[in-house]
Amino acid sequence: MAKQIQAIRGMNDILPEQSGRWQQLEHVIRSLLAGYGYSEIRMPIVEQTDLFKRSIGEVTDIVEKEMYTFADRNGDSLTLRPEGTASCVRAGNEHGLLYNQTRRMWYMGPMFRHERPQKGRYRQFHQVGVEAFGLNGPDIDAELILMTARLWKQLGIAEHLQLELNSLASNEARASYRQALTDYLREHSAVLDEDSLRRLETNPLRVLDSKNQAMADMLAAAPKLSEYWDDESRTHFQGLCERLDAAGIQYIHNERLVRGLDYYNRTVFEWVTDSLGAQGTVCAGGRYDGLVQQLGGKATPAVGFAMGLERLVLMLENAEAFKVPREVDVYIAAVGDVAELPAMALAEEIRDVLPNLRVMLHCGGGKFAKQLKRADQSGAELALILGADEVAEQRVTVKYLRQDKPQETLAFAELVEVLGTLVVE
Ligand code: ATP
Ligand code: MG
Repeated sequence: MAKQIQAIRGMNDILPEQSGRWQQLEHVIRSLLAGYGYSEIRMPIVEQTDLFKRSIGEVTDIVEKEMYTFADRNGDSLTLRPEGTASCVRAGNEHGLLYNQTRRMWYMGPMFRHERPQKGRYRQFHQVGVEAFGLNGPDIDAELILMTARLWKQLGIAEHLQLELNSLASNEARASYRQALTDYLREHSAVLDEDSLRRLETNPLRVLDSKNQAMADMLAAAPKLSEYWDDESRTHFQGLCERLDAAGIQYIHNERLVRGLDYYNRTVFEWVTDSLGAQGTVCAGGRYDGLVQQLGGKATPAVGFAMGLERLVLMLENAEAFKVPREVDVYIAAVGDVAELPAMALAEEIRDVLPNLRVMLHCGGGKFAKQLKRADQSGAELALILGADEVAEQRVTVKYLRQDKPQETLAFAELVEVLGTLVVE
């Protein structure tokens, strides 16, 4: 037998048994975004490598070690997108979508990072990203957070998610803080692990992210970013908190939340859960007022977030409230050769009248018992049975597969009435 070729590690197939849940999740997200007036944008999966270097930052985990970068046939350096914000801003600048106007956009699709695969962390994963341009906030910052909070409620996972919030303030304020933090960390370099010593030189704020228990006390006593906030950023943060309070959304101010990408300023936030082990961040984002200009556009304030769909799907598997709808409503069985053509015609007639009903027609013939077994396995609510008698009388036998109810034999008009009750929009 020929050797089978396997999928690439960390890049998953989403199988038919799982895709129903994915589609349901995507459907809920799409309607939610439409309900807030956001429009979809679709960007390519491959971009010039420089786009990510210039936006995410050269000394970040993503750019240093996680990107799938390769040479195009003409030698250009290309990269499979590790995230969507940079592409969205690139597209917005390129098509004049951002300057002197406001835009609320979203995208959905695969992202690629060369990480160590584990539960909730993959090399191809999927994000829904939401970006708002041309608005200074904090009202729009609050809108994005309210929108995510509503989503968790709709998905039935709100009680497992906690909002963490911080402000990275202005670039100037952050620069003073970085200096103070660096000085402090240097004084305590004996306690720093290897990773933190490296970050101390390249990206000191990221040391605050460390989960190393041996450094916990030292980090707890480190200078606080909020002590260096500029007045405008402080007012912005208070404005956001007031709006969240008014909407009844709980949060904690996590002074050590700094995010792993360079482009953020002011508001940053994460929705975290303790139900996914180390992969606890389900949704993360913040303000990036400098990025549009940094990528060659005119200065435009912006804020956005991205959520990881694999992590949400994992949470939904444990959520009672979130039921995956059945994929087949009715299964049509044809017993005997004489019923085969009428069964196909019946299926098409039903689809004419009830286009949203999911109708599966038995194919491949076989015994009645086998066809009924298939009907049951399909998840259908009803089996419609056509045999010689039904064909002669121009009627259809309806068997209730999920209810304790006797079967009945109906004319087409009566049948359509019964089937109409199964249609879910
Ligand atoms: P983490 O700290 O878990 O590495 P991150 O800060 O790198 O996350 P972002 O770049 O902010 O993540 O991406 C936003 C969201 O995308 C994350 O909160 C997570 O839900 C999801 N995500 C990021 N990387 C992966 C991955 N490798 N596999 C699956 N989901 C991911
Ligand atoms: Mg990461």
